[in-house]
Parts: sequence; C-alpha cells; structure tokens
Amino acid sequence: MNECKIEGCYKPIKAKGLCSMHHQRWRRHGDPLVTKVRQSLYPHTCQWLKCERPTVSKGFCSKHYYIKRTLVLV
Ligand SMILES: [Zn+2]
Ligand SMILES: [Zn+2]
Repeated sequence: MNECKIEGCYKPIKAKGLCSMHHQRWRRHGDPLVTKVRQSLYPHTCQWLKCERPTVSKGFCSKHYYIKRTLVLV
C-alpha cells in the first residue's frame, strides 16, 4: 500500500506519496518526473523561472544568483 505514487515505481514512500528518489527530484525540480536526460538539454541555463541566461553559479545567472543569495541570507 505504501508505494511511490509515480506510475511504474514501487519503492517505499519517503514523503508526500513519493519514494526517496522521486521526492528528491520533486524537491530539486518541482517535478518528480524530471530526469537527468531532460536536465542535460539545458546544462548552462539559469534555473530561474522563464530565465534563459547562462549560469554563473549553482545553476543561476549572475542576476538571479545574487537575488537567490540575498533571499537566503535574509
Ligand atoms: Zn518513486
Ligand atoms: Zn536568471
């Protein structure tokens, strides 16, 4: 009964109805079905919503990395 809600995945649930792998993807990408294949299509693009600038650090462009850092530190 306590299996991951993702179709075809039968691993035990870790949180939110997802197994540890899918839960980690959901936390990281906001989508448990995101795979490394899709990720590698845009390896150097800012992960900010609708931003397609090249990344400078931790997956963000210079502007959004600054915003992210400021938000985290406050
Ligand atoms: Zn799963
Ligand atoms: Zn950006």
